[in-house]
Amino acid sequence: MTTIRIIHADGGPPPECPECKEILDAATATEEGTVPSPGDWSVCCECGAILCYMDDLRMRLAEDTDLASTDDETRELLTRVQRDIRFRKN
Ligand SMILES: [Zn+2]
Repeated sequence: MTTIRIIHADGGPPPECPECKEILDAATATEEGTVPSPGDWSVCCECGAILCYMDDLRMRLAEDTDLASTDDETRELLTRVQRDIRFRKN
């Protein structure tokens, strides 16, 4: 897996987790060579919140309706990563 740094051209504040406020200025993809795009999923490495990339690549909390609209495989991956992060932090 490759981790990339997320830099915003607008010079605004660095992206942060809307749940725990951790600075999230890097991303690691599950597929090699993939970079974040609007509409992609993410999971906060600090608190395990499931997030969605917005048009400016900042993130918002995923709603239940977002998760309900995705396929089973993606939903299971997101919840497994969330569970692993939260288990690791406790
Ligand atoms: Zn967080």
